[in-house]
Amino acid sequence: MAKVKDTKENMEICLEFCGPCPTFPEIEGEALFCARGKSKAPKEKRGCNCGMCSVQSASGCRGQYYCIHGACE
Ligand code: SF4
Ligand code: SF4
Repeated sequence: MAKVKDTKENMEICLEFCGPCPTFPEIEGEALFCARGKSKAPKEKRGCNCGMCSVQSASGCRGQYYCIHGACE
C-alpha cells in the first residue's frame, strides 16, 4: 500500500516541486506520483525535486523519480 495519502493538500505541495522539475511528464491531471504511481508517459531522468518536498519528508519515504519508478510503498 502507498505510504503517501492522495489528498488535495499533498497534491498542492507536490506541484510546487514536481511542477518545475525537468523530468515532470506534463500529462494533464498527473502528479503526486509517490502516492498515485508512475506516469503514463515518463520522461528520461533529468533531475528530481522529491528530496526537497515536505510530503516526502513527512512520509518516511526516501526515494526519487516516483514518476518513473512508481509509488512509495
Ligand atoms: S517524481 Fe521527482 S522526477 Fe518525477 S516529476 Fe516529481 S520531482 Fe520530478
Ligand atoms: S515526493 Fe515527489 S512525487 Fe511525492 S509529492 Fe513530493 S514532489 Fe511530488
